[in-house]
Amino acid sequence: MPELPEVETTCRGIGPALVGQCVTGVRVRNSRLRIPVPDELAQRIVGSRLHSVRRRAKYLLLDFGGGSVIIHLGMSGSLRVLSPDNAPDVHDHVDIVFGTHLLRLRDPRRFGLVTWCAGDPLAHPLLAGLGPEPLESGFDEAYLFHVTRGIRAPIKQVLMDARKVVGVGNIYASESLFRAAVHPLAPAGRIGLRRYARIAAAVRETLNDAIRAGGSTLRDYVGGDGRAGYFQQQYFVYGRVGAPCRVCATPIERRVVAQRATYWCPNCQRR
Ligand code: ZN
Repeated sequence: MPELPEVETTCRGIGPALVGQCVTGVRVRNSRLRIPVPDELAQRIVGSRLHSVRRRAKYLLLDFGGGSVIIHLGMSGSLRVLSPDNAPDVHDHVDIVFGTHLLRLRDPRRFGLVTWCAGDPLAHPLLAGLGPEPLESGFDEAYLFHVTRGIRAPIKQVLMDARKVVGVGNIYASESLFRAAVHPLAPAGRIGLRRYARIAAAVRETLNDAIRAGGSTLRDYVGGDGRAGYFQQQYFVYGRVGAPCRVCATPIERRVVAQRATYWCPNCQRR
């Protein structure tokens, strides 16, 4: 699944090729995504110039001045910049043509979305209730401490709650808590400022490492027709049940927490 680092890398990959270009066409081959692609999409953006591409949580926001196209990659989506004569695959559902370039959404499972927002996209119902960005300054120990008082849910579940902080998916929550040496089942309301400082730093490091790993795939977002650049990384705990901890060699444990597989080292991570 594309996580925050993949979406950030996509944003950095497609922006330089497309910002400043005018839309010359829209082709919707299958509008049945998580929410239907609006019929008026072409009417809204053909002839408009792309002002910027930015990311909020796992949404990409294409600003056309008079409104924005909001894109989410869902479970399996990817965006690429191709030449306009590139033949579509069966899963290539939406093309936005910018003269000599084309932005193509491929989404085999169709949990992604492409929609139009006339006003401020940050106020759109999809985005309005989202918590802070983990790589921006509002995400720190004081914030985490404040929003977790009285919460008995495990810290891992809280990190994955987009109302508390966006973009920390299942893999990155487990990996961040390992780096912070905090047990994923520790009740969030019992964690103090000192440990929250370690958690905030670990979340940033984990995401930034993944973005750096993705940086090497940036060129794949422009040209070529390879598959989506979901980053292959070496994980500390994720997916490693029974394998020796990379720090202390204790076997990694696994339990399903809030329907998600959760991994930790019972020696390195403390409740
Ligand atoms: Zn360990």
